[in-house]
Amino acid sequence: MVLLRTLLPLFLLLGSTVWAQQDITVDRTMRIGLYRERVVKQVVVMPVKSICVLFADGERKGEVATTDGLRISVAGGAITARSLTLNVTAKRKIELVPRVTDGGFRLRISDTKLPERTYPGKLAVTVTAGNLMLVNAVPLEAYTAGVVQAEAGKEHHQEYYKLQAVTCRTYALTNQRKHQPEGFELCDGVHCQVYHGRNRNDSIRMAVDATHSLVLVDADIKLIQATFHSNCGGETVNAEDLWGRSQTYLRATVDTFCTAAPHATWTKNMSRTEWLGYLQRKYSLRTGDSAQLYAVLNYEPQCRDLYLGNTWPLVPLKNVREDLGLKSTFFSVRTEGEKVVLEGRGFGHGVGLCQEGAMKMARAGKSYTDILHHYYTSVHLVDLTTLDFFRDDSLAPNGGAGGPRSR
Ligand SMILES: [Zn+2]
Ligand SMILES: [Zn+2]
Repeated sequence: MVLLRTLLPLFLLLGSTVWAQQDITVDRTMRIGLYRERVVKQVVVMPVKSICVLFADGERKGEVATTDGLRISVAGGAITARSLTLNVTAKRKIELVPRVTDGGFRLRISDTKLPERTYPGKLAVTVTAGNLMLVNAVPLEAYTAGVVQAEAGKEHHQEYYKLQAVTCRTYALTNQRKHQPEGFELCDGVHCQVYHGRNRNDSIRMAVDATHSLVLVDADIKLIQATFHSNCGGETVNAEDLWGRSQTYLRATVDTFCTAAPHATWTKNMSRTEWLGYLQRKYSLRTGDSAQLYAVLNYEPQCRDLYLGNTWPLVPLKNVREDLGLKSTFFSVRTEGEKVVLEGRGFGHGVGLCQEGAMKMARAGKSYTDILHHYYTSVHLVDLTTLDFFRDDSLAPNGGAGGPRSR
């Protein structure tokens, strides 16, 4: 591994040809659980771009045309699938497989007002606890583009889309065992990464293509937990300060790019009684002690602190943020008569990549690689084909920073 680490920059420079020859992998398919937060009894599916082949319990039953629709329902523990020409019942699984590689399907959940969505790849439908379970088997690159569209939104700089593509792709592989007991890899909601099917944005498609197969690894060539947040307030946070476990690549770093962004500052007003009552109840603050009282009413951090003021017992700022629903742990405290004013900086947990800082850096002409290296310390950008990830445990979750990716 030491040799590998030493040679890595050289390999990257030479296009990794030697290494790649040893560890070529097939194009990775992700299995994404759709609509897991809903009770789904029936769906309507229509193939797009090409005919889809229908399988019931692994047996080929026929084809569904792009002009036809397939109604899939759960009935008495079995699954039925009906189209104009087919009427199929399966005990375990219905699968819909497009004839062409860029094919897919449109999907609508019956009896809801949810909009129809279009997905690339295959669909597998099984029954779990009396409801339909929908799993979309989607090529990693198409999945990455779908996630960038759902997570990043419209009208960003191309370099910003590129870094989002790299972090979303990395996150997918680092966390692929998150839903293993349920029979798929990642869900399509905020619990994992938001995914609403096929990307329709050309800039995102170009950014995903330009970063094809690129992921972030740490100094030990393990995929990283690419955590991010909305705005760091000028300084990011060490992973251990929030989650109690350090990561070589999630280190506190100064950020001068996000301090004028929309989520750079916040204010919360409380009554003096409310603020002191909270500290008294939760941390046994002695309001009779004038020094202690002064410390919690006049607090001005110069940089990110872990604890509020100079008080004992210690008041962890991450607990205060959680208890009071604050946007960040980075704030000052002052009084205005009977009012206590909390003036904060940033939005989110502060670990890893600061989205608004990254957007500004992209607009200022920085490359996506420079931006990633700014927020993730000592990481390498590598091609998946250079990772022997099907054979060993290099895809095992990277110790995990311990918390959710964002928020
Ligand atoms: Zn999930
Ligand atoms: Zn920032």
